[in-house]
Amino acid sequence: MSDLYQGFTSSAIGKQVTRLLGLPQPTPLERYADGAPLVDGTVAVGGHGRLVESLVGILDTLGIAAVETPSGEAPGDGTTYKGLVFDATGLTTSEQLVALRDFFTPLLRSLDRCPRVVVIGTPPEQVDGAERVAQRALEGFTRSLGKEIGRGGTVQLMYVADGAEGSVASTLAFLLSPKSAYVSGQVVRIGAHGAAKPGPVANWTRPLEGKVAVVTGASRGIGEQIARVLHRDGATVVGIDVPQAASELQAVMRELDGDHLVLDITAKDAPQRIARHLKDGHGGVDVVVHNAGITRDRRLANMAASADKGDRFEQVIAVNLTAPERITRELLDQGVVNKGGSIVGVASIAGIAGNVGQTNYAASKAGVIGLVDSLADELQDGITINAVAPGFIITQMTAAVPFATREVGQRLNALAQGGLPVDVAETIAWYASPGSTAVNGNVVRVCGQMMLGA
Ligand code: NAD
Repeated sequence: MSDLYQGFTSSAIGKQVTRLLGLPQPTPLERYADGAPLVDGTVAVGGHGRLVESLVGILDTLGIAAVETPSGEAPGDGTTYKGLVFDATGLTTSEQLVALRDFFTPLLRSLDRCPRVVVIGTPPEQVDGAERVAQRALEGFTRSLGKEIGRGGTVQLMYVADGAEGSVASTLAFLLSPKSAYVSGQVVRIGAHGAAKPGPVANWTRPLEGKVAVVTGASRGIGEQIARVLHRDGATVVGIDVPQAASELQAVMRELDGDHLVLDITAKDAPQRIARHLKDGHGGVDVVVHNAGITRDRRLANMAASADKGDRFEQVIAVNLTAPERITRELLDQGVVNKGGSIVGVASIAGIAGNVGQTNYAASKAGVIGLVDSLADELQDGITINAVAPGFIITQMTAAVPFATREVGQRLNALAQGGLPVDVAETIAWYASPGSTAVNGNVVRVCGQMMLGA
């Protein structure tokens, strides 16, 4: 399941051949190591607006070294930066957008490998007239910089609602650290559905200490990695998987000192059984991750139900969408999700851009985004709902994709490589953090900024 092309380009001969042929040379991405500082270097902070004055202090609480850097100044003494944060909330007209160039252009040559860039704006829908225009423009800027920054760098836009200025720490911790290695060109909204006060995070390296997380499809692939990362962050994990995967599930959960529940999430009584298990065994749940998913690809013209394979369309909708809907509803109705809890759906970029042979899968994954939209305003007690939309992640599911399609899928993104299950897991751990109660109603793609489609 490894990336053979990337292995080849890392060799001396591979470097020469790919340079000669003008082929992509993916930078090996830095990923977070347990216990390491969030940022290995210094972050330069600049801009004008509601947040700039508090940013250095916020980064300090996260153990991130930051310096205020006025626009137009490049460090003359060989200083390099690991990250750049620009507060653009003060930009109220399109003429002022040039402030982005003034800040970034001199600094872009002074970046370390795998740098992280964050632009902070005001949600355009919250302001009017010229300010709305200027704030909306930030999206094109960040998405383009993401495609040109290179060297494993990532660029994001954080729209911070008025009143949510004190709720940005957990998101900065994620976006500035290697935890977001494969997330780029994304727009994140903080406080868009009411600025819930973030819960206390006593320990940024174990923010989920004392919390309970349930993960469906936890025996392998992305689900297994989600279980591992949530466990690393301090949670007790309850893994769920089908009877055929029971022994793998038990092995993973034993290693993580967790709990397991063997069932098919599409079973009629699955929502009730899950609710009862979490209530009786754990007194409730703080993090619910709907990860279990299947593909049954075929063009729609060939998708008629068959006697041997059953109904491919129906099966995919049942596992990927109807089951998460029913389980979420049951857990909420029974009050099993604790205050400040987090519900996370696993969508897919196929659900955003569409894909040949995947009308069933893309419908199910777009529906997961619909579930986020439908519940984000409705949830009470600081409970949030968000989704990740993975792009090409190297797992058993994608190992089954034909070679040529797989190669194209891996290369056609700004980072020119496939992501790892841990990249999806880290994104989910950010949503799940008690510090992320103002992060609600988001769909973040974990796709290395896919060049095609969405
Ligand atoms: P995978 O096939 O390796 O793992 C899926 C897990 O879900 C398995 O353990 C499986 O047994 C379990 N599962 C399936 N049906 C179930 C059911 N009815 N009840 C309980 N458990 C069930 O897949 P993966 O690549 O790890 O994908 C995980 C999730 O990420 C899926 O929702 C998938 O659609 C999504 N996703 C993956 C990619 C990718 O590139 N791998 C891209 C986009 C989205």
